[in-house]
Amino acid sequence: MKIAVVGSGYVGLVAGACLAENGNEVICIDKDPAKVRTLQRGKIPIYEPGLEELVRRNRAEKRLTFTTELARGARASQIIFIAVGTPTGEDGSADLQHVLGVARDLGRAMNGYKVVVNKSTVPVGTAARVRKTIAAETKHPFSVVSNPEFLKQGAAIDDFMKPDRVVIGAEDERAAGLMRELYAPFTRTGAPIMLMDCASAELCKYAANAMLATRISFMNEVANVCDAMGADVDQVRRAVASDKRIGPSFLFPGVGYGGSCFPKDVKAMLRFAATADYDFQILRAVESVNERQKLRLLTKVQSHLGSLKKKTIAVWGLAFKPRTDDMREAPAVPLIKGLLDAGATVRAYDPEAMKVAKGIFGNRIAYAPNSYAALEGADALLIVTEWNEFREPDFIRMRKLMKNPAIFDGRNIYNPQQIRASGFEYLSMGRP
Ligand code: NAD
Repeated sequence: MKIAVVGSGYVGLVAGACLAENGNEVICIDKDPAKVRTLQRGKIPIYEPGLEELVRRNRAEKRLTFTTELARGARASQIIFIAVGTPTGEDGSADLQHVLGVARDLGRAMNGYKVVVNKSTVPVGTAARVRKTIAAETKHPFSVVSNPEFLKQGAAIDDFMKPDRVVIGAEDERAAGLMRELYAPFTRTGAPIMLMDCASAELCKYAANAMLATRISFMNEVANVCDAMGADVDQVRRAVASDKRIGPSFLFPGVGYGGSCFPKDVKAMLRFAATADYDFQILRAVESVNERQKLRLLTKVQSHLGSLKKKTIAVWGLAFKPRTDDMREAPAVPLIKGLLDAGATVRAYDPEAMKVAKGIFGNRIAYAPNSYAALEGADALLIVTEWNEFREPDFIRMRKLMKNPAIFDGRNIYNPQQIRASGFEYLSMGRP
């Protein structure tokens, strides 16, 4: 099939490359000329495992091309995905200016029947607004489909190629049929294609992210109670997770959720529920627990080390999670700001997010070339992102490098007994 994908970010680029990999002809469109030039040179502007190779292969086969020209891409395609950002607006709602701007431009570019597929995460009712916006610009027939994306950064290709399910909100049989055909190769292993109305499809994505955020905040509160009462959250988690009704995923306590999706989607869901006069009480609590949790490691360091003035704090991990360079809403950001406000010197290391971090902190923190260099003369190490390379370090080398061998582990990656036996002071989340 001939496909256009508008927006070449984490979602659009992965979707474009994966659709091309299954034999479609895909034009990826982005309004950012620098990004498009980079992609045309075969380079990837983000870090996502496996993506560069996929893009390179499909470019070489001429199934994947990049342009800034929306009208040209749209005219050449039958199915057009909208995968632009939907950031948090001033009142907490999803800002739809990019989505609706693309819809207007698509309407102006129409030259025959098209299926316009909304892949961006958008509030209930957006499909109807997209339909109205396009219809105001054209007399050509078209269908609007809601197809929320559930990929996880860091495992995006696998998630797109082998999804748990594909959700399609479609209001006519012609569009539903084309979408089923397009996704058939991705669901060969039996994953369901779930056809529904657009409003339900739009809500699926928010409900899924809100549920995951709720599990995280819930488990963070359990860990905080463990801290207060001398229980061990690892034991509690294992026992709770073995209940088949609950299961093991998303039950690890930590420094709070971040990233480009959970914080914004929780906010947006609260907001659109409120516009329908519904107070989503649980989600309000999920959000405020998360805000508090992001600073919990800072509170632990301060209560343990006292004043942080003139202290050097090493930070391992800046990205909001491992296997990505994304620092949008990363818990490391408020944590490091808190350390700086308290007078500490911060020396940070992340395997992929250093460039992004420089854009946020400039020269207010120091950037270590590797994990060990971050520890030189440090009064404490804070572990913020659980990259694999932090899991089995050389503890003897670490102790020699640090002025004060204290580790504050926001991700519970070490065994407390073992690490204390190696001569460290060790505080983690919800473990005695
Ligand atoms: P992103 O910021 O990485 O990418 C968006 C891209 O759209 C940018 O490159 C931007 O230049 C481009 N763009 C904006 N306006 C445009 C226009 N008018 N014409 C052409 N290009 C335009 O965003 P993302 O992380 O890929 O997220 C996109 C959407 O997908 C959001 O709604 C997000 O909530 C949703 N989503 C994201 C993820 C994720 O893990 N990142 C997962 C599922 C869903």
